[in-house]
Amino acid sequence: GSSADDELLAGLNPQQREAVTYRGDALLIVAGAGSGKTSVLTRRIALLLHRREAWPSQILAITFTNKAAGEMRERVAELVGDASRGMWISTFHSACVRILRREAEQFGFTRNFTIYDSGDSRALLKRLVKDHEADAYGFTPSAVQSRISKLKNELLDAEGYARQANMSDPAERKFVEVFTDYQRSLQKANAFDFDDLIGQTVFLFRAFPQVADSYRRRFRHILVDEYQDTNHAQYSLIRELTKPVAGKAPEPYAADGMMIFEPDPTPAPGEDATAASLTVVGDSDQSIYAFRGADIRNITEFERDFPGAKVVLLEQNYRSTQNILSAANAVIGNNFDRKAKNLWSDRGPGDKIVGFTGYSQHDEAQFVADEIEELRRAGYPYSEMAVFYRTNSQSRALEEILIRSAVPYKIMGGTKFYERAEIKDALAYLVAVANPADDMAVRRILNRPRRGIGAVTETAIGAFAEKQGISFRDALRHADGLGVGPKLQAAISRLDAVLAEAADLLTPASGEVPPATSVAEGLKILLEKSGYFEALRASRDPQDEARLENLDEFVAVARDFARNNPDGTIVDFLAEVALVSDADDLDDASGVVSLMTMHTAKGLEYDAVFVTGVEEDLIPHRISAGEPGGPQEERRLFYVGITRARKRLHLSLAMTRAQFGEVSVAMPSRFLQEIPAELIDWRQSPGDVNSRGGMRSRALNARRPGGWGSGSTKDDHFGVRALPQRDRLTPLSTAMDRFPNKVTGKVRDNGDLELAAGDRIRHDDFGEGRVEAVTGEGAKRIAHVQFDTAGRKKLLIKIAPIVKL
Ligand code: ATP
Ligand code: MG
Repeated sequence: GSSADDELLAGLNPQQREAVTYRGDALLIVAGAGSGKTSVLTRRIALLLHRREAWPSQILAITFTNKAAGEMRERVAELVGDASRGMWISTFHSACVRILRREAEQFGFTRNFTIYDSGDSRALLKRLVKDHEADAYGFTPSAVQSRISKLKNELLDAEGYARQANMSDPAERKFVEVFTDYQRSLQKANAFDFDDLIGQTVFLFRAFPQVADSYRRRFRHILVDEYQDTNHAQYSLIRELTKPVAGKAPEPYAADGMMIFEPDPTPAPGEDATAASLTVVGDSDQSIYAFRGADIRNITEFERDFPGAKVVLLEQNYRSTQNILSAANAVIGNNFDRKAKNLWSDRGPGDKIVGFTGYSQHDEAQFVADEIEELRRAGYPYSEMAVFYRTNSQSRALEEILIRSAVPYKIMGGTKFYERAEIKDALAYLVAVANPADDMAVRRILNRPRRGIGAVTETAIGAFAEKQGISFRDALRHADGLGVGPKLQAAISRLDAVLAEAADLLTPASGEVPPATSVAEGLKILLEKSGYFEALRASRDPQDEARLENLDEFVAVARDFARNNPDGTIVDFLAEVALVSDADDLDDASGVVSLMTMHTAKGLEYDAVFVTGVEEDLIPHRISAGEPGGPQEERRLFYVGITRARKRLHLSLAMTRAQFGEVSVAMPSRFLQEIPAELIDWRQSPGDVNSRGGMRSRALNARRPGGWGSGSTKDDHFGVRALPQRDRLTPLSTAMDRFPNKVTGKVRDNGDLELAAGDRIRHDDFGEGRVEAVTGEGAKRIAHVQFDTAGRKKLLIKIAPIVKL
């Protein structure tokens, strides 16, 4: 190769080099965490472009998050410059949105369709469950939602499901009824839910072979990162795109001194059928989305699905120090039914893993905050530190302490912002303009701000629309035909006028040209003229002040969007917002510590990582216990968490945790015991905590040679240890007998405190209250207390700072 070739291949090990340069129909790269899978994909794309083996428009690369897509695009651009323009590097969802935008008209949608996020779907299902009285059969909207989602991931629609379901069961019939109506409502609203984006694209390709062929001709190189987490629908999409196709797209052409990279997808005659080349990378040990239908078999059976596929294994880890890697290897080694990997690192042993056991989650959070400051003094920037947890609810205690300690942080998981009511309202205004067929959006803004339009009027509008065969939006144009009073008529007409004006500004009749009014301007006009802003400004509620600020931020998001997408329309903006996923955030996290769930952490890396809440019932999570393969998937999740760390890894837990509405006693996670004791430096081990209380610990002291690791047996088939945890570890509830109480500093032992319904007590923090009930037994007795001023609380009697009055 040329010298630039050499540059692109520089520093790669022989296996990586092979993966970058291999040319053939199918290539599978399987390797453990941090071995350069994503880097190899990036280099492969760069080399294809650099050698002019492919035009950018012929490349389709799929990443797991939009953020990962952005990083890959940037990286390729760094390597090959402008030659990278026109590639499709995106998530499955974004790629499908682009395809559906072009092709929606083929099957009864229009290009301005709305994307329903999971909150929107649930809202729709809530109405349908009610309409169909499905709750009588025990269906909740969220249960129906997850069932529908699972079926769609298997590419089953309501009809297909009905064919295989037991339709003599009335509950099944009811479910099919709701599913059918749900799909009908989406179609009527010109909307797709998240799962539809993929499923309907597959449907489109199967129903319209010529359409599929045009994409097959176009995408000649398909690359997929994190392939272990693809579900059946995503797998089918890849299968469709890699079917052989005759003819090839013409070469790109030069125009206006610029290369036009978009080939016209009409076939040149006389070519043999060929398939696109497919490269997938993955690690079955990092498969963590089985609950969303991800199927590990997609990777294990790749060679069967793509005969003649080349397989490359990578074994050197470039990310972590050996201590961290050894811990990761030891943990994942406990999963049965996996191919052993031999992951090694030449970064040296590095620092030991730091372990910490707090008395409570606040204590644990304080440790995290202190340690972050210490690392910062040692030269680690905040942006190179991350704190992980299993469930979102764990972030609250961390946030509290980080704020108090003045540590700047950001929660990764952009959806939160878009779940706020005022942001949903603003979005609904935009949707009502962009896709007037979306009744749900128009209904949402009907009385926001308050216009005196109540449920009765809403029903009247709906009935009118139904009768006339028009949309809910269009019914607003006929306020005088609704049979409502003049005041209501005026209110409805005003809303109609505001929406019509915004539509003129934002969606000009020509459709194609980007309108002169930006989305940000349009949004401001909508919120101003609808009276939404005014209502918030006039309010004295401090919450409304915060809402105004959030809306300002949202307008700023729209402005950023316009800057980054000069041709972007309102429809593009709405799609981008809808696709913001867990790991994505519209602004970056520079200069702050990142907080996120372990699921969100996939694919990322940081110098210093804190994995918190390493307790039974959290990791492995208690809901996993009953799921087949659940505990094994949790172990993979823990493996993902610890392999994000480059140099410093902290594992922490708390002995008591307020969650699920009560204070519970926590036990160290079984995964901790799987890490060789010599790799962990316990700042405060569960053993220390015990001895502080004067208790002798039988097995909790991890420092004792052979302590935690010894006596453990391999998992049985459900990933549950053969010996019950309780027999080997001192239950913390016993060890807690003499815990110093953090609030009062006194030793608290309420073990003998007799409490019964009707008793009055005083709590150090919550004041006086009346016991309503006592449940549980022994150390786990819980008092349900109605406090005079602090509301209703559940307290673990043994440790709560309470006295009987
Ligand atoms: P994960 O399984 O977590 O997704 P991965 O296999 O995709 O990890 P990468 O993220 O591509 O791994 O690489 C991990 C780190 O190792 C990155 O910082 C990357 O820059 C670095 N790296 C990869 N290959 C090499 C190499 N040959 N030389 C030096 N550094 C490398
Ligand atoms: Mg990766």
